[in-house]
Formats: sequence, structure tokens, C-alpha cells
Amino acid sequence: MRAAARKNGVDEGGIRVVIQPGQRVFYHAVNPALESPWDVLIIGGGPAGATAAILLARQGRRVLVVEKEIFPRFHVGESLLPYNGPLFEQLGVAEALRAAGFMVKRAAQFHSGAGSPGARLTFAKGRFTEHPSAMQVQRDRFDQILLNAARTAGAEVREGCSAGACVTDADGVAVELRAADGTREPVRARFVMDASGMSTLTARAAGLKEARAGHSKVALFSHFDNVEMPTGEELGDIILLLRDQAWVWLIPLTETRTSVGLVMDRSEFDSGRGDLEGLWDRIVRETPDLARRLSAAIRVGKLHVEADYSYEVKKIVEPRLVRIGDAAGFLDPVFSSGVMLAMESAVEASAAVAQALDRGATMTRALRRYEAHLRDHLALFWRFVRVFYTRPFVELFLQPRPKWDLLSGINAVLAGRSRLPWTARWRLEVFFLLVKLQSWYPVVPRLRWSTGRPPTGRGFRPTTQAG
Ligand SMILES: Cc1cc2nc3c(=O)[nH]c(=O)nc-3n(C[C@H](O)[C@H](O)[C@H](O)COP(=O)(O)OP(=O)(O)OC[C@H]3O[C@@H](n4cnc5c(N)ncnc54)[C@H](O)[C@@H]3O)c2cc1C
Repeated sequence: MRAAARKNGVDEGGIRVVIQPGQRVFYHAVNPALESPWDVLIIGGGPAGATAAILLARQGRRVLVVEKEIFPRFHVGESLLPYNGPLFEQLGVAEALRAAGFMVKRAAQFHSGAGSPGARLTFAKGRFTEHPSAMQVQRDRFDQILLNAARTAGAEVREGCSAGACVTDADGVAVELRAADGTREPVRARFVMDASGMSTLTARAAGLKEARAGHSKVALFSHFDNVEMPTGEELGDIILLLRDQAWVWLIPLTETRTSVGLVMDRSEFDSGRGDLEGLWDRIVRETPDLARRLSAAIRVGKLHVEADYSYEVKKIVEPRLVRIGDAAGFLDPVFSSGVMLAMESAVEASAAVAQALDRGATMTRALRRYEAHLRDHLALFWRFVRVFYTRPFVELFLQPRPKWDLLSGINAVLAGRSRLPWTARWRLEVFFLLVKLQSWYPVVPRLRWSTGRPPTGRGFRPTTQAG
């Protein structure tokens, strides 16, 4: 043993020498990471994890991001919201994203699957919507840009590296990492941010994940070339085709490539008995507007499935542990809110974690406020998700009355604005009241439900333009 190591401490080879009172000498192999913990370990390098890493590393904190996949990797969640824009500026990635040439989204179109005209919700027309456009992105490229920015900000990023169980003690959190080659490495951090997405690593382990009752949906999706999509002024619009308890997304990624997804009730998915291709073909056949748009289309990827993705997480913050993005809960993809909520939660949570680190605290009021605010925002979207699948909502949404400009409140929420002025809030409340009324008494004409899918198929026949 080197003479240099013959004192209490650690030599360059990572050998700790401990001299006991009786002068017996013990040698321990030491992992420097265990001796000098990371400030923050972030589990998952998706939009939530990368956002938190950029912000914390930029402050000079020691940040380790572990991501089990090797980027770029395919991911669902391609249509973003206008309120992502200020977050991109804050993170310093706006220029890189503009340079990537992603498709600009100015409006969302809602149509009946039966081929009738629908409503177009234009962000620029919303009186409470401050940002007129968003982007639609290939997530492999988008996520790579964000994760690279985390590296540039000074975070250490390890791809192909999975985090295992997290054990919190008085001094920090111990986590075992597993590299792609199976090598295991224990690390310690003062805080862990769980950004593991729908795998909800820590919530699942603690039994804190709970499915949202009565909302069991499945999505079947892929990428296509040559889908018939809007052009000219409407180029870039996302299209939603509404079906009975179900809907279809068409997200233009480039002028030729489109992401197409079928969202359905679990019961409809189960009726396909595992034959995904057969189920896809049947739904396309039964949805005339979709069949028309896909008539010359060529699929360029495999069919992906995501199931039972609406869940709550009972605790979002715990001492030394903060959940962000999908790891803190997921609603439903219908309003394209996932990435925005993931990034926004990461911004707020990382500010609270930074403050806790500075104070040497494990739980703070700011962390609790983060949980409360995220729950409020999720609850607002959840209210929309619940009514979206009802007929009175669709009837009012597609036949808006110009009086009071009620849809401008909805426009702001669907653009991703989280802090609404009271003038938008009362409009939302009146709208929800009208939805209730519409189920008893027709405030606007009932829509004629045309055949959509047997046996209960009820597409509907919307008519007008929405603000
Ligand atoms: C059908 C469907 C359609 C959707 N469409 C949209 C849409 O149009 N627009 C939108 O904004 N959102 C959409 N979403 C939601 C969106 O995909 C998510 O909200 C968003 O990706 C959340 O980001 P995140 O960073 O929290 O999680 P993710 O993007 O999922 O990132 C989590 C990362 O953690 C990694 N990870 C997991 N476990 C571990 C581990 N143990 N160790 C290390 N790494 C780990 C994963 O590999 C992954 O890269 C959709 C979701 C679904 C289900």
C-alpha cells in the first residue's frame, strides 16, 4: 500500500485508510461518488428531466442525469402548445429549435369523423392567449436538443443507464444505477428528481400511482407519408377527428410526414383481440374522414400502442424527492398538454429544489407550493378532459355563440396558459355551466349524430368556426 495513503483520508486510487486507536490499519475501497454526493440526481432525460438539468446545472450545481435509453429515440407526444415558447426562451434552446425547422402550429381543427366541417381554434384569435403559435416536433430530435443543452449547461448525462430503487436517509438519497452492460454502481445525491415519465419509477415503487377511474383509454399510432392535410394558411394545423368516446389525431411533422393516432376506449381496443393491423384498418374504414385523408398514405413506421395512461400520483414531493413531468401524473393526450406540463413542472420544481439545497433543507414550503400548483393545473386540464368526451361539450364547442366570447377562455387553457386572469376564469365557469345545461335543455342545437362505428357509433355533424 502506498505510503501516501497512510493517513486518514482517500488517496488517488480511491483507497480510504482508517487508523483505529489501537494503530490497526483498515483499507476500504471507496467510490468517490459515494463520498461526495451529487447535488441532484435526475432520473430520465425526457423534456422534464432535461429542463430541470439545464436550470440547475446552469447555477453551478452538480447534476447527474441518467437516461435508460440511448438518444435519439422514438417517443410519442409531438404536438406542443404556444406556452412552451417562453420556456424554450428561458432554457436558451429556442434558437436551436427554430433552426431544426419543426412545423409551426397556429390552430387546432376539430372535425367529425363523418366528414362534415368542424371548428378551427386559432391561437392568435384568443383574447387571453399571448402566444400565437406552437411547434410540432419529431420527439427523437426535440428531446435530443434538450438533452444536449443539459450537457452544455454542465450536467453530466449518462445514456443507456437505468436508475433502480431510491433509499432516502438522513444525509441524502442512495440510488443504484445499472449501465447497459449490466455494471451496477451506487450513487448518492442530496435530492432526487424523478423524471422517469410514465414508468413513474419512484411512485410505482411506493404504491403511489393510481389509475384515473372510469378513464381507460388506449392509443394506437404511427407515422405516415402523403396524408391529406391542410395547406396554405392552415398548413401546420393539428386535426382531431372526433368519434364516439374516441378520437383521432393527425399531427403534421413536415409537409409530407404526419403522425396519426387512434385513441379509443379499452373495450374497443380489446375487441380487436390483439390484431393491431386489423383493428387499425377497421377503425379507418369506419371513420370516413380518416379513410379519405389516408387513401394515398404510406405508413413509414411500426404501429405503437400506449395503454391506460391516465393516472394520478398521490404524493408529488417527499423529503429529498420531487416528481416532475409524467412521473408526477398524466391526464390524457387530447389537449397536447403533456410536454408543456412536464417542462413547466420541471421549471417550478427545480427552483424549489435549488432553494432547499441552499438552505440545507429536505422539505420546504416552496416544494409544497410546487405540488399544490401542479395539482391545480392538472385539475384544470382534467376538467376539460372529462367534458371533452361528452356530447354537450362538443355541441357547445363546435357551435359557439359570439356573445361573451366564451371560447377565448378555452383558447387560453388549450394554449397552455396556467395562470388565468379572472376575466378568463369566469368565462370558463359560464361555459362549464352551459355544458351542464345543454345536457338537459338545448342551449345550442343538438348535433345530428351520423353513423361512425357500429354498434354504438355516433360521429357528429359540427358546423362552424371557433375563435
Ligand atoms: C398517446 C399519447 C399521445 C401524446 N401526445 C402528446 C402531444 O401531442 N403533445 C404533448 O405535449 N404530449 C403528448 N403526450 C404526453 C407526452 O408524451 C408526455 O407528457 C411527455 O413526454 C412527458 O415528458 P417527461 O419528460 O415527463 O417524460 P418522458 O418524455 O417519457 O421521458 C422520461 C424518460 O425517462 C426515461 N426513464 C424511464 N425510467 C428510467 C429509469 N429507471 N432510469 C433512467 N431513465 C428512465 C425514459 O427512457 C424516458 O426517456 C402524449 C402521451 C400519450 C400517451
